Amino acid sequence: MIKKAKRIENLPPYLFARIDQLKEEAINRGIDVISLGIGDPDQPTPMPIVQKLCEEALNPANHRYPSYEGLLEYRQAVANWYKYRFNVDLDPKKEVLSLIGSKEGLVHMIWGLVDRGDIVLCPDPGYPVYRISTLLAEGEPYSIPLKIENKFLPKWEDIPTEIAKKAKVMFLNYPSNPTGAVIDKKGLEEAVKFAKEYDIIILYDNAYSEITFDGFVAPSILEIDGAKDIAIEFNSLSKTFNMTGWRIGYAVGNADLISVLSTVKTNVDSGVFQAIQYAAIEALNNLRDFSKESVKIYQRRRDMVLDAFKGMGVEILPPKGTFYVWVSVPEGFTSTDFAAFLLEEIGVLVVPGIGYGDYGEGYIRISTTISEDRLIEALKRVKEFFGRDDWKSKKPSLLLK
Ligand SMILES: *Cc1c(COP(=O)(O)O)cnc(C)c1O
Repeated sequence: MIKKAKRIENLPPYLFARIDQLKEEAINRGIDVISLGIGDPDQPTPMPIVQKLCEEALNPANHRYPSYEGLLEYRQAVANWYKYRFNVDLDPKKEVLSLIGSKEGLVHMIWGLVDRGDIVLCPDPGYPVYRISTLLAEGEPYSIPLKIENKFLPKWEDIPTEIAKKAKVMFLNYPSNPTGAVIDKKGLEEAVKFAKEYDIIILYDNAYSEITFDGFVAPSILEIDGAKDIAIEFNSLSKTFNMTGWRIGYAVGNADLISVLSTVKTNVDSGVFQAIQYAAIEALNNLRDFSKESVKIYQRRRDMVLDAFKGMGVEILPPKGTFYVWVSVPEGFTSTDFAAFLLEEIGVLVVPGIGYGDYGEGYIRISTTISEDRLIEALKRVKEFFGRDDWKSKKPSLLLK
């Protein structure tokens, strides 16, 4: 037996790896599984971006190690995008850093900031990476409870003062995975005020900044006066331009935080393949309206999901952003039971809310990043099954552990 490090041994299993396994098992049992699990855009990357990659891939100058911090041209394109989109000024040399996807940056930022025992405030429910990166660094995650009665926004007064005083770092993510909730500038002002009062660094995850509905426009935390003193924002091309597989993102904001992150990165990885950086520049400079089309698609799908669950006695705060719908489970079920039940009875895979933290219990997350025929088929199964009176008498036999 290989003896793993305790920090690995003690980790909860990565939720999506476990879900893939369950899906596999169900498929092997002959079930036609429709996955509404992982959030990964089903639409292709826009062709001009792909073309740019192809051109640049042919140039041998791009075949060598890229610089750690990213091409200045790429960082300038990010700065220009932030000026255009958020009216935020950034110094591309000191306040922008390229990332191999924003997940990489979130994890490495924690390595640069957290010592054993340091408290990290994590949105709960929230993207599992926040907790896990904290645990890997031997820090202590502490939940920021996000409740439906508060529209899944933090209530800063709920954080005990002694915890706030000790906390070193906080993650914040809106538009939110998994709840689909959004925050406005006033909400961000409150967050910055709280963080400044207790001397807490904010790691703001704005991965879904361009995926918002009903006319809502997501702010950057850097729009808030004084935020740059304490905050760094993570974003990427993954969700905005359907580029999850490309692995390119960026961190922007406080120059000292950028420098810390850069120190970690120079010691553990290299920069992003330059051909991909050139393709990303193309996206940021010339496809600024692309996400408007995606938003139409996701908003239509959101409405289909809301419609299918209407009248089922479940509670949903209609999401204002992301491609998720966060649905309460019917009475008498845990989130895992209900996810197992859906998989078993109708072959529809969703993610149990408990995977996003203790406050995720009582919910499931539905992702709409699959082809529309498959989504329609899944929702048809949902409606048919829950339209029958006898569904409650069925007990789930399959257990998700
Ligand atoms: C998808 C996602 C990311 C990371 O995406 P990258 O592909 O690593 O840039 C970050 N945060 C949240 C909340 C996400 O859902």
